[in-house]
Amino acid sequence: MGWVTHTLQEGPPKLYRRALYLPSMAPRRKTRQITLGDDRVGRVKIGGDAPIAVQTMTAGYTHDIDACVAEIERYAKAGADVVRVAVPERKDTDALKEILKQVSVPVVADVHFHYQRALEAIEAGVHKIRLNPGNINDRDQVNKVIDACKERKIPIRIGVNEGSIIERKDKLKRAEELGKFFAGHKSGHMLALMIAKLEEYLDIFDARDFHDVAISAKSMDASMVIDIYTEISQRFDYPLHLGVTHAGPRETGAIRSIAALGTLIANGIGDTLRISYASDHIDEVKDGLELLYSLGKRERKGVELIACPTCGRIQVDLFTLVKEVEKKLMPELELPIKVAVMGCIVNGPGEAEGADVAVFAGDRRGIIYVQGQRVANVPEPEILDRLLHECREFEAKVKRGEAKLGEKVVEIVPPAPIGELGSGADKIRAGLVEKVTVEKVTVEKVTIGKTT
Ligand code: SF4
Repeated sequence: MGWVTHTLQEGPPKLYRRALYLPSMAPRRKTRQITLGDDRVGRVKIGGDAPIAVQTMTAGYTHDIDACVAEIERYAKAGADVVRVAVPERKDTDALKEILKQVSVPVVADVHFHYQRALEAIEAGVHKIRLNPGNINDRDQVNKVIDACKERKIPIRIGVNEGSIIERKDKLKRAEELGKFFAGHKSGHMLALMIAKLEEYLDIFDARDFHDVAISAKSMDASMVIDIYTEISQRFDYPLHLGVTHAGPRETGAIRSIAALGTLIANGIGDTLRISYASDHIDEVKDGLELLYSLGKRERKGVELIACPTCGRIQVDLFTLVKEVEKKLMPELELPIKVAVMGCIVNGPGEAEGADVAVFAGDRRGIIYVQGQRVANVPEPEILDRLLHECREFEAKVKRGEAKLGEKVVEIVPPAPIGELGSGADKIRAGLVEKVTVEKVTVEKVTIGKTT
């Protein structure tokens, strides 16, 4: 973790005339680079100076060709750079040839137990192989896969999982021996086992002079994932495929995955990632991309939606509005327009700072701003359509070169919360305002909670 010093040059108050120490993200760790793909689907680079790639895996059967193609394409459309498929049976590798003719992103064959599936997938033209050292560990078999990949220039991911380490018969004895190296760590023996497994396996690849390799070492424990990847990042220079395995449904899986992967990426570790959920895998792609956008590791594509969490000042059904805006705008707009949907005019402008298009709601109305300029004040039922209209218009303007993203034409000056949206005025008229005296100054107080 590096540190950057910012000095405030001028301006009271005195208290702040001092250096600020802000933590910054560590530079990306240098790794070798692998390339997967072909002329038809394009080529994706992983590692080196390539942007961190987002992957997911199909949930359906690979031998169901049409469904598999549709699933891969759905993920590709959502932004997946690479999609992995399981090939447990011969009929799955048989289907690959046809699948590969129809998809638009590189495909990885996920191989367990049967090395022949890897050879068949390579023959079918797959773009990368994933091998699990926990269940394909016969040296001759691994050599056959390496040779076939070498001939076709196909990379291999060596994917160790905490779960597949368990198969060792001498696990406890081995753990005891190796654990001594990581004695101070709560999962020291498992860390040692996973690293030993990787090293053993990589020796086979080294002996074959095959370095078109990516590695992963996943666990279901987020802190373990941070530790193991930190450790292997210092031992190997192969690109790292990050992931928390068996992370559960999105509700908990997102927190585990983002905690681990976000920490690693902020520390400069990771070249590609897969977030795993026990639910629709489209969310793996969306959340993986959002993580990279949020950390500034990928250039955002499409709308960036800002929405307030709502509070006691809320006067419209904001949650429904946000959902609708997300549903309608996300798939439609291409440019990274910042759209803010805020619940009130009091704090909304400050919270939406930097938005290109913003709506501030109040008293069943919405005031819409485009780059700081007020363009509409509409009743609640019209907010969604008008906001969508303004976003589309703004995008068209940017595309024509008449506006620039992130530029504010004028500062948003929030209207007085009483009167502008009708709320205060109506309340005053309806006698819902009581007079209070504070230090000889008479002010009018709006009674909150009553409706006119
Ligand atoms: S914008 Fe207004 S309603 Fe939304 S959280 Fe902030 S103060 Fe509350």
